[in-house]
Amino acid sequence: MSRYKRPSKQYPKNWNRLRFAVFKRDNYICQMCGVKCKIDGGLRSPQCHHLTPINCGGTHHWSNLVTLCKRCHRLVHKEWIEKKDKYGR
Ligand SMILES: [Zn+2]
Ligand SMILES: [Zn+2]
Repeated sequence: MSRYKRPSKQYPKNWNRLRFAVFKRDNYICQMCGVKCKIDGGLRSPQCHHLTPINCGGTHHWSNLVTLCKRCHRLVHKEWIEKKDKYGR
């Protein structure tokens, strides 16, 4: 519905290739819980996580990206948001 673009969602053109390169580098293993990820594996689907968030000056370079399973990825971002709440941004 919304037509405006959020800056944090601006991914490079080769994003798809980039994330698969990261998954391959990490052997599709979640860098948090060590589970072997599977495409379309529900909570075990591999996802790319930015170590330094884009809106904190991070880049889309693969050195700033890690493979996380969907479950951990969700957790990481939840914790991050909670922390931000606790310390008031
Ligand atoms: Zn995981
Ligand atoms: Zn992330």
